[in-house]
Amino acid sequence: MSIAIDRIVAEVDRAADEIVDFASRLVRIATVNPPGDEYETCANLIGDQLRAHGADVQLLPAIGRFEHTPEHPRINVVGRFDGRGPAVHLSGHFDVVPAGQGWTRDPFGGHVVDGRLYGRGACDMKAGLAAAVFAAEAIRRVGVAHAAPIEISGTVDEESGGFAGVAWLAENRWLSRERTRAVIIPEPFGVDRVCVGHRGVYWFEVVAEGRTAHGSMPYLGVSAIDGMSHLLDLVRDELGPALAGRVTTMPVVPEGSRHATINTNGIDGGQPVDAAPSPCVADRCRAVFDRRFLMEEGLDRTRAEIAALVAKAQSRMPDVRFSIEDRMVVEPTRTPEDAPVIGALAAAIARIVGRPASMVASPGTYDQKHVARIAGVPQCVAYGPGELALAHQPDEYCAVTDIVMATKVLALAVMSLAE
Ligand SMILES: [Zn+2]
Repeated sequence: MSIAIDRIVAEVDRAADEIVDFASRLVRIATVNPPGDEYETCANLIGDQLRAHGADVQLLPAIGRFEHTPEHPRINVVGRFDGRGPAVHLSGHFDVVPAGQGWTRDPFGGHVVDGRLYGRGACDMKAGLAAAVFAAEAIRRVGVAHAAPIEISGTVDEESGGFAGVAWLAENRWLSRERTRAVIIPEPFGVDRVCVGHRGVYWFEVVAEGRTAHGSMPYLGVSAIDGMSHLLDLVRDELGPALAGRVTTMPVVPEGSRHATINTNGIDGGQPVDAAPSPCVADRCRAVFDRRFLMEEGLDRTRAEIAALVAKAQSRMPDVRFSIEDRMVVEPTRTPEDAPVIGALAAAIARIVGRPASMVASPGTYDQKHVARIAGVPQCVAYGPGELALAHQPDEYCAVTDIVMATKVLALAVMSLAE
């Protein structure tokens, strides 16, 4: 075993340029989401690479999903190295958020400067995908036998919820309890950190409806904006402080996100501000809220608390009619502490990085929710190269040394899980 480990480590070192070159080629494909550009090109590049490594490759359009259109086809790719029983599966998304402003480098140049691969998606998470592809390849090149199948998937749309990506794979049983023993998602949590889950999400919209009147006689109408402002006061003065007092036992990083939180995501009421106005009392106001809840709070309590808060705003302004509509619900998820996938990664990190692994949880959600909830595979964590704080930023990069190190860690972990 120890000889095999040394050979795998040496093999990854030998392949370092190939790994970085592959990550760079991925960055050069501008798979921007929204709207979902160049997915087919990227799925093909990953598929061709996996095929060259000897994998059995399937390109999987997300048939049945409304996002899958002729202009922007949603194409996932799965490569498989055969074996017996359920597979060890590495899954990375290849969509990236738009480049945005403030870059000093070409966001889609894929250039390596001073040991850093720059570009949109370099860290989140094309470096991780390249590490996954070459972790499996290092095992193959060394020729260590693996009993379980090893699978790699490249998926779409994680940045917009993953419904045509990992959720689609899980719904179509490419990931399932029977087929899959463990999943590692190489999101950029850093070379010595294993991410064991995330908080829950309750996105909801509140509509306040009043009655319009002439703006010079507002007392003859009922302002929906006034109604909404009562709710916003309650969110700021009552709910906010209450949430700040609740702490989860999950190791969420950064630590500020160990508390429950709420963010007012957007608000829209009355006449459009940029258009020529006419004097009217606002008869409608909408606001969208992003409530992140803790495993300890649970969805039912979270929802009930919001309903009570809206009822309180209603009682302060009885002539306004309030309603609540759910926009998106994601349950919190946490990998069981004794999961072999955690043990395998922790051992590999200690060996390769030379310090103990730390367990973290994510402030936001990622594809683990679909693996846990739809596929029913609790053996799922995120582990990959790059610094989380650089994700979605201008001048996003991933250090080349991190890519190589994470490839080694992934290879050792996969080898031990697939034994
Ligand atoms: Zn990501």
